[in-house]
Amino acid sequence: MRLPAAPTRVRVLVVEDDATIGRHLDTGLRSNNYQPTWSRTGAGALTESERAPYEAVLLDLGLPDMDGLDVARQLRARYPGLLIVILTARTDEIDVIAGLDAGADDYLVKPFSLTVLLARLRAHLRHHTPASPEEKPIRLGDLLLDTAARRCTLHDHEVTLRPKEFELLAALARNAGTAVSRENLMADVWDENWFGPTKTLDVTMASLRRRLSEAADQASSPSTLPQITTLRGHGYRLETTQPDQPPQTP
Ligand code: CA
Repeated sequence: MRLPAAPTRVRVLVVEDDATIGRHLDTGLRSNNYQPTWSRTGAGALTESERAPYEAVLLDLGLPDMDGLDVARQLRARYPGLLIVILTARTDEIDVIAGLDAGADDYLVKPFSLTVLLARLRAHLRHHTPASPEEKPIRLGDLLLDTAARRCTLHDHEVTLRPKEFELLAALARNAGTAVSRENLMADVWDENWFGPTKTLDVTMASLRRRLSEAADQASSPSTLPQITTLRGHGYRLETTQPDQPPQTP
């Protein structure tokens, strides 16, 4: 008789210098079947991230040795697929935007409830599972979006997108030519029970557009990129027809 394989516990790196919050997170995650490692400093967290493969990081921004934003940037540069959730006492919108720009996927403002944190983790990690292998790559101008392989290429050159940028582009591409509401994008890319502000969507859209245009600038030949139209008060539409092509010279 074969026993079912033991489910692998998700490794979570907790970066928090506050002893009370750190212990609360550590025991809370442990009792919910996660495998947490608690680091009290930014430098310690960066070292720890190399020791074992982590799927998620809960990152306090106010650390004794480093700015949490720098930790987020370094982790994002090293691990493109890592889920980074920022824990912040800073409620300024500008700090939240800085956190998302530094590479975080999401944020929670302290004090937060463990229940909300666990719900966010579940939602994010569910989205991190790969798309069905039957899904065919989608061609958008010169851009090829392979959702099964999670690759985005322009003229065969890889375009590096963060997880949420990739999913946002995929959600629009699956509905190319159709208006997609902000609510549907939030539900599709983030969570069906999104509790946070939709500022995250604007920031992710801005960085997606920036990454695509940077990729086009670096391409060796002129590239046709998918046009994403902003529909004020509604959402976005990925255009199927390209605007004014320059005339082809033979
Ligand atoms: Ca702190």
